[in-house]
Amino acid sequence: MRRFVCLLAVIVSAAVVSAQRTTKTLDIYVVDVEGGNATLFVSPSGDSLLIDTGNAGMGAARDAARIVEAAKDAGVTQIDHVITTHWHGDHYGGLAELASRIPIKHFIDHGRNIQPTEATDAFLNKTYPELYAKGAHTVVKAGEAIPFAGVDTRVIASAGQVIAKPLAAAGKANPFCTPMKPVEAIPEDTQSVGTLFTFGKFRALHPGDLTRDKEYDLMCPVNRVGAIDVLVGPHHGQDTSNSEAFVHALQPRVIVMNNGTRKGGWPDVMTSFYTSPRFEDLWQMHFSLLSGQEYTPPGVFIANLVDDQDSAMPIAPLPAPGANAPPAPVHNGRAYWVKLSAREDGTFTVTNSRNGFSKNYR
Ligand SMILES: [Zn+2]
Ligand SMILES: [Zn+2]
Repeated sequence: MRRFVCLLAVIVSAAVVSAQRTTKTLDIYVVDVEGGNATLFVSPSGDSLLIDTGNAGMGAARDAARIVEAAKDAGVTQIDHVITTHWHGDHYGGLAELASRIPIKHFIDHGRNIQPTEATDAFLNKTYPELYAKGAHTVVKAGEAIPFAGVDTRVIASAGQVIAKPLAAAGKANPFCTPMKPVEAIPEDTQSVGTLFTFGKFRALHPGDLTRDKEYDLMCPVNRVGAIDVLVGPHHGQDTSNSEAFVHALQPRVIVMNNGTRKGGWPDVMTSFYTSPRFEDLWQMHFSLLSGQEYTPPGVFIANLVDDQDSAMPIAPLPAPGANAPPAPVHNGRAYWVKLSAREDGTFTVTNSRNGFSKNYR
């Protein structure tokens, strides 16, 4: 009898697992964390890999809840791997809050923080070791693989180093390597873990906040990555990243931008995207006031509104916020993701969860 009960339990739990996941797609949820980053990858077998956890402080509970909602939609009940791209509060901030809501098994990062602050030091000295003590912890180097079921997952940059050699089928001279505009990079951005996902013929790159100088290391004089289909979360659309040497050589068909209402979407970055070879569409988390109507994509490609909408959207882009800028429009209410489902033949579908607008890329 006991044996029968055990067997029954196995059958029932197997049925539950298969009911949760019947797709043959790699699914990618770009979650709205108000100009921070949180991107959830779910493999066809239901393994999950999350890149970043949104904001610290007041935003942590909100952002963790939004990530859990995406995990629920994907039918996953734990996070198998979480990559923290770098030690900025809009990337690691929601991690402890998230870990209190859903089990996290494996914590991945670039190692030592090179931009100490009181809050980050406290997190790294106390909170983070307590979190990964319950699971596994890996410091990754460029070139290493991350075990993510059915999806070749490779670190292309970490701790300021990029892959030393071109990947297979890459390594052509990059015609977009014009002299680099000088960049005043924020130190931790340069350390970002950048990750390339290959699923059959489909390729997507998440560069974290990798800065222009590192983009050049990676892409000039030869392109060490090759062409991709989708560029996900390119430093919120800010211009210390997203050089033409990087974006144009990668040739993404689609870009999904993790911007805020007044963060990213700057005119020169939008121009870099729009003029890129093979570029088809830009999907984004928010309308950016820094794009204005002049540079924004149509609203169907934009996932989120703001709590109190203005009666008219400005046509001209606002300059990047300086010390006297008015506060950014608030969005703490219901939030929406952009979901991408990729198939092994290289085709994919992108959907805006706010309005149901969906487009197939064949
Ligand atoms: Zn939002
Ligand atoms: Zn960032």
